[in-house]
Amino acid sequence: MNHFDVTVVGAGNAALCAAIAAREKGATVLVLEKAPKEKRGGNSYFTDGAIRFAYNDLKDIRKLMPDLSDEEAASILMPEYSTDDYYEDLERVTGCKTTPELARHLVNNSYDTIAWMRNHGVEFELNYANQSFEKDGKYQFWGGLPVKTRNIGMGLMKTLFDRAQELGVEIWYEAAATDVETKNDRVSSIQVEKQGETITIATSSVVLASGSFEANKDMRKQYIGEEWEAAIVRGTEYNTGDGLTIALNKGAVKHGEWDGCHAIGTDARAPEVGNFEKPGDIFKKHSYPLSIMVNKNGKRFVDEGADFRNYTYAKYGKEILKQPGHVAYQIYDSQVRPKLRKEYNLEEATYREADTLDDLASDLDIDKDSFLQTIQEYNEAVQEGNYDPTIKDEKGTDGITPPKSNWALRIEEGPFYAFPVTCGITFSFGGILVNTNAEVVNSANRQIDGLYAAGEMVGGIFYGNYPGGSGLMSGAVYGKTAGTQAAEYAKSTVSS
Ligand SMILES: Cc1cc2nc3c(=O)[nH]c(=O)nc-3n(C[C@H](O)[C@H](O)[C@H](O)COP(=O)(O)OP(=O)(O)OC[C@H]3O[C@@H](n4cnc5c(N)ncnc54)[C@H](O)[C@@H]3O)c2cc1C
Repeated sequence: MNHFDVTVVGAGNAALCAAIAAREKGATVLVLEKAPKEKRGGNSYFTDGAIRFAYNDLKDIRKLMPDLSDEEAASILMPEYSTDDYYEDLERVTGCKTTPELARHLVNNSYDTIAWMRNHGVEFELNYANQSFEKDGKYQFWGGLPVKTRNIGMGLMKTLFDRAQELGVEIWYEAAATDVETKNDRVSSIQVEKQGETITIATSSVVLASGSFEANKDMRKQYIGEEWEAAIVRGTEYNTGDGLTIALNKGAVKHGEWDGCHAIGTDARAPEVGNFEKPGDIFKKHSYPLSIMVNKNGKRFVDEGADFRNYTYAKYGKEILKQPGHVAYQIYDSQVRPKLRKEYNLEEATYREADTLDDLASDLDIDKDSFLQTIQEYNEAVQEGNYDPTIKDEKGTDGITPPKSNWALRIEEGPFYAFPVTCGITFSFGGILVNTNAEVVNSANRQIDGLYAAGEMVGGIFYGNYPGGSGLMSGAVYGKTAGTQAAEYAKSTVSS
């Protein structure tokens, strides 16, 4: 029987950070990927690579991208984003539900972990297109998320796979973990279904990093609600809750918001599950803070401009799911159309265009009279002020419900555009309880020896909402912690 010091379940960002960290500590490492090789990399592969970490100033950011010239740096306005800012964002968007010690571990280790990833070859660049606006000849960044990985999630995962292989990590594809066995209350082996064969692998420790249950329709219905059957899965079809089931069977405890998830407004014609041949997060529609969103009854249903996109997009998918037919239309006029993000210009983008609002409504599956009345009431409610998408400009509405708190412009200059969106689930928030060593703990709050978890599987950090770019960072921080700790633990079992 084979033996590995550390076996990592999954091959997304969290898993590969764990594998690399464990290998760096000298452990022998096996990675199990349930997907075939051409569908490897989990949700991490589908990401935009946006990654949120704390930094003091542009100097900290330049350390990650040494090619950034002095001239380019002089054209950038980069507000500080401290560990306290990051922590406060987590508290604010989760309604103070985030587990303080887990959130602090994420925030306090974010910069060091980013620098560690850079040392392993991950390249970063500034996210001008989505996280800055040009103002007075300079690029003004906003919202604490200025950096993404080069060539987005695909680039990140290629680098991590290459690095893991270079370091001697063994990777098995079409190899799904099904159970973990313990002997004398310590992890001793793991069971794997590999291309129809059941194999038992002796291992001193296991890092579970196999995502949450967002791609499992039954679990979505059971835990989040019946209506979630209709949600589109934005990422991998392989995150079906296997790691959670394995951990709970071993005495782990549920932690976090099992009836909650990260879900966005995605193109109404997006595929049912993420398409590995067309990754790159191309179906999202994230300029809605500059829009008004209406349902098929012609009614608005959220404050589109409540906050920057980074702080509302992850909770508005749920609101769209509640609308008739699970659909909403984002409405723009020609003043705003040039300001929309690049995903609106892709050939995959579904939209309708018309010279008048009347004609636009005729082309939509919508209650036309109600739609036209909504637009009229909205236009009358728009207040004067200085329209400025780089800040929360407080140019809002007065006297309508829901209000639009920022970036309210009258919709009055044709042509007019409608982008239909539906709800796309990104990942579920239900996870298991770990401590800040990424050790899985039981109901007595004692660690289960040799069992670790990272990434989406860590419960209790995100509730109801999420600051954009925190998923990759949480995966990297907890992955690195888990891999390091698992390797140390495996070493200690040899010497004890
Ligand atoms: C379209 C899209 C865009 C996103 N954009 C961003 C972004 O820009 N920034 C950001 O921070 N977050 C983003 N996210 C969220 C982000 O993808 C996740 O938070 C993060 O990637 C989760 O990483 P992970 O390693 O925990 O899981 P994953 O990357 O999903 O990896 C889980 C792995 O486990 C494997 N697996 C499952 N079951 C088993 C089993 N039984 N045995 C073996 N392997 C198994 C899967 O095949 C997969 O390889 C996005 C998500 C999507 C879907």
